[in-house]
Formats: sequence, structure tokens, C-alpha cells
Amino acid sequence: MTRLVGATAVPACCCKGLAGVARKGVLRAAVPFHRLVCYRYAMDRNQRCRAIVLRTYPIGEIHKGVVLLTDTSGVIHAVAHGAASARGKLRSVAELFVEGEVALYHNPVKRSIKLQDLDGPAMHYGVRENLVKYYVASLWVELVAVSCGGGGEHDGEAYELLSNALAVLDGVEEARALELSVYVLWRYLGVLGLAPVLDLCGECGRALAREQRAYWPLGGGELRCEACRETAVGGAHSTYTFTPPTRAYLMRLEESVRCAQDVLRVRLQPEQSRRLHALLAAGVEQALETRLKTLESGASILYGRG
Ligand SMILES: [Zn+2]
Repeated sequence: MTRLVGATAVPACCCKGLAGVARKGVLRAAVPFHRLVCYRYAMDRNQRCRAIVLRTYPIGEIHKGVVLLTDTSGVIHAVAHGAASARGKLRSVAELFVEGEVALYHNPVKRSIKLQDLDGPAMHYGVRENLVKYYVASLWVELVAVSCGGGGEHDGEAYELLSNALAVLDGVEEARALELSVYVLWRYLGVLGLAPVLDLCGECGRALAREQRAYWPLGGGELRCEACRETAVGGAHSTYTFTPPTRAYLMRLEESVRCAQDVLRVRLQPEQSRRLHALLAAGVEQALETRLKTLESGASILYGRG
């Protein structure tokens, strides 16, 4: 597959989600805004790759639209013909969170992509049959969809993270789902280039001691120390607070966690999980200038138990 990185179709994004990012300019360098160009001009007619279903929606009575995160081409939209009909062969696999090897056909004239097959599906029943895990995974796929998987050069990274995390979430006990989600949000902030450095004040450059509180400006950027908190845009009230335990936890994730499975070896108390998760989720929303629907509709499910 060829790719037109830095193509001129700047405002054209397949999923609308990048509009906010474009306005803000945070990811201008990291996201080449080439998705539509990918569809129309640069995609091979037949392609096989790994993919995860991020979203499905009805098209007429018997077809479905699917939004896929692929390991080689980022987020793409495809049509699964017959997937909503009783006898359609894609019926069972054109479903949220399903992962497998997909066969895609790109029609350059119709400017559409057809999902022809999804082989060796990992169905993730453990995620779909548990309400908390379902909402956790819904948050992840929504986040990936609205941010286009982080853009061109991050295709593989986002895919690996989501694939790995869904597999672990599938088998994990419900009580630890939010810890796993803290890890995913933190890593995904890294994929987007938005994760702050944890041990330095981004303003004065002084090291932040482990027992120190740190402040994260609303809308992202680097952490501030107490003294520099006032200088953040909007003043001290416009920052999120990283308490020493939450920052220490994130530092442990950075230092010793290489994959989602490792997260289960590092304990985070339920209350701290909830706080840190809410903080990172708010940071992601601010940075992307978008509201994540899963957080709006599922906050009581995500944060209400444990
Ligand atoms: Zn400072």
C-alpha cells in the first residue's frame, strides 16, 4: 500500500474526529490528514490486514457500515454487505470489538471500501457480556475512532495497544477493568504525543520529586510544579492535580509495564483508579476538544462500582 503523507487534502478527514485536533494544532505534525487520500487514491484494490471493529452502524435494512482500526492503514470505514441480514456471512463478525484478519476491496470509482471477510475472529465475549468491561472497551474504541488511531505513523502502535488491551480485558475480573483502562488512556496519550513528562516541571525545568504534587494544564501540555502552577493559561484553577500516589503509579507504568498484561501486577486502589481514570479521560477530551459519548452515558457504570 502506498501512502500520500502530507497530501494537500488537509481539512478532509474520514471521521470528523480530527477537526478538533486540526483547530488546536497539537497534532498537526503527527497527523498527516491523509485518510481520504488513502481511500481514494492510495489504497490497493485488494488488501488483507489485521483489524478491530471500532463501530458499526446500519446501512439500509441488511447492510452495515463498519469503522475498523487496521494494523497497517489506520482507521478506515468499510461496508459489510448483508451483515445485518439473517444469512449474511459477515453477520457474526461485523460486531463491536471483534478482531481478525480482514479482506478489503477498494473501489476507486465508487470511493468505497468493502469488507469481504474477517477470518479467525477473536470475538471478545468476555468483554461484550460484562457491562463494565463493555463500557471500558467502548471508551477505548470511541477514543481511537475520534482520533483516527493517532494518525499515519502511529497505525501500528495504536493497533497493538488496543489489540493487546482487549485480549487482557476479555479475561480480567471486572474489578480490575478500570486499572487496565488507566493504562490504555495513558499509553494512548503517548501515541497521540500528549502524555506529559512525569518527573519535570515543563515551565521551570526543575525535577519533580516523587512526593510533590504536580499540575497538568487543562488542554494538555507539560506538568507544572506548585510554583509554576499560577502561570498556566487560565491560572491555577485551570489545572488538574496529579497527587503523589497517582504520579508514582504512572511512573511505575512507564518504568515496568511493557504490555497490558503487566498492568495486573501493579495494584492501584479502586478510588485512585477512578480518580486517575477520570483525570486522564478529561485530559484526553480537552486535548482532542471533543466529548466522549461513552463517558457521558457510562460514567455511573465506569465509576460507580468497585
Ligand atoms: Zn516549575
